[in-house]
Amino acid sequence: MADNSPNIAIVGGGISGLVLAIALIRRGTKVQLYEQAHAFGEIGAGVAFGPNSVRAMQACSPDIHAAFLKVATRNQWPDKRDVWFDFMDGYDKTAPVGKEKLLFTLTTEDGANAVHRAHFLDELVKLVPEGVAHFKKRLDTIEQPAGDGKVRLRFHDGTTAEADAVVGCDGIKARTRAWMLGGDDKPGAAPVYTYKYAYRGLIPMQRAVDELGEDNAKNAKMHLGKDGHILTFPVNKGETMNVVAFHTTQEDWPDTRHLTRSSEKKHVYDDFEDFGPTVQKIIDLLEPNLDCWAIFDTGAHPMPAYNKGRVCCLGDAGHATSPHHGAGAGICIEDAAVMAELLAEPSVAKAGTSGLEAAFQAFSDCRKERTQWLVQSSRRTGDLYEWRAEGVGNDVEKIHAECEERDEKIWGSQIEEMVAEAKQSLAAILKA
Ligand code: FAD
Repeated sequence: MADNSPNIAIVGGGISGLVLAIALIRRGTKVQLYEQAHAFGEIGAGVAFGPNSVRAMQACSPDIHAAFLKVATRNQWPDKRDVWFDFMDGYDKTAPVGKEKLLFTLTTEDGANAVHRAHFLDELVKLVPEGVAHFKKRLDTIEQPAGDGKVRLRFHDGTTAEADAVVGCDGIKARTRAWMLGGDDKPGAAPVYTYKYAYRGLIPMQRAVDELGEDNAKNAKMHLGKDGHILTFPVNKGETMNVVAFHTTQEDWPDTRHLTRSSEKKHVYDDFEDFGPTVQKIIDLLEPNLDCWAIFDTGAHPMPAYNKGRVCCLGDAGHATSPHHGAGAGICIEDAAVMAELLAEPSVAKAGTSGLEAAFQAFSDCRKERTQWLVQSSRRTGDLYEWRAEGVGNDVEKIHAECEERDEKIWGSQIEEMVAEAKQSLAAILKA
């Protein structure tokens, strides 16, 4: 490790923070990670990764990719391995359970490659050496001196920490974003409600097969309809079926400090009352009491820049998206790959403070367009699935064509090209 290599503080130990820490450590960069919770933890739900995400994992570290492969689950039928989702007519009330009309299919390398969030996080945690992570460290504010002095983090427990630079990976409600924008009351500091919410469930696979039939239970399906859609895909190496049921509402979310609330299955039936028998059967399989997740994003006020001196936002902290592309976490991993490569550039360490500022500037310049496009495109995609998109409605051909074009833009991007562009940008900034 070069002696002049910078000390990087990462705030937040979700997927972004952990992946970035592992990628930086692999490149010999000194890292400390500060997490507000008493331990690393993720919720028990599924998360799917497109091929761009898998390539980004490999770029971050082969160990991250290997960790993913340990827990990743693809469609269970060999002839459906490359299916992202089969899009079904969830609104057809005449088709019996399991016999909904197939509207169209989207395919990609590896298909829907999904993990149980908590299991993936457990594998990532194993890759973080002792002494790197500090728990119960809730960031309150940041002090950044004008010159070469260290950046200081102030935590809620009264303690402080110092670093040469800080990467905020503190998620959708990021303190780092609010600090960067100038305070909690500034536009963009708080995420906004997209007027969609989701119920989530994990169903034992055998039960799902018995009730829905093998194809529906073991392969990724998206059941479309007016103002709602339900998606299912296998996780836990095919032992469990993950369910996410989205609904559009006109009502405000009651408490913007809490993005989940307890709910009951009867509300899911109400929200999907106009859907057909297959969707009703999926709802039957859910627990009687379940959580309802508000879908917030940062789409109303995209950050003008992800960097401010030697502080930078990454992942959901910079660009939280609704989940309709199934790409939010994947794009966080792309961010981490680009950031790790930039910070490991010898020219950054050599240039000291201005090198770190240049790395963050290059990161922001190169990541803004794609990440902020994703946030807007995801909103549009959610509306396409629910026959609400302007100029499209329930025209299946148009929905298919637009979804395909948007997903291709996500899946087809090459991480090597993103990294090369960022390094070029860094070189130009350092030269100026
Ligand atoms: P987070 O996971 O929010 O992690 C932030 C971390 O920072 C947490 O550990 C938190 O405790 C910590 N923290 C917060 N504030 C502080 C503070 N002040 N001080 C210290 N620590 C702090 N993406 C996909 O790619 N595919 C999918 O299929 C998919 N499905 C989704 C389904 C739903 C319903 C939702 C809501 C999202 C979905 N996403 C999906 C998006 C994905 O979940 C997020 O993009 C991703 O988890 C963000 O990771 P992150 O590490 O940036 O933020």
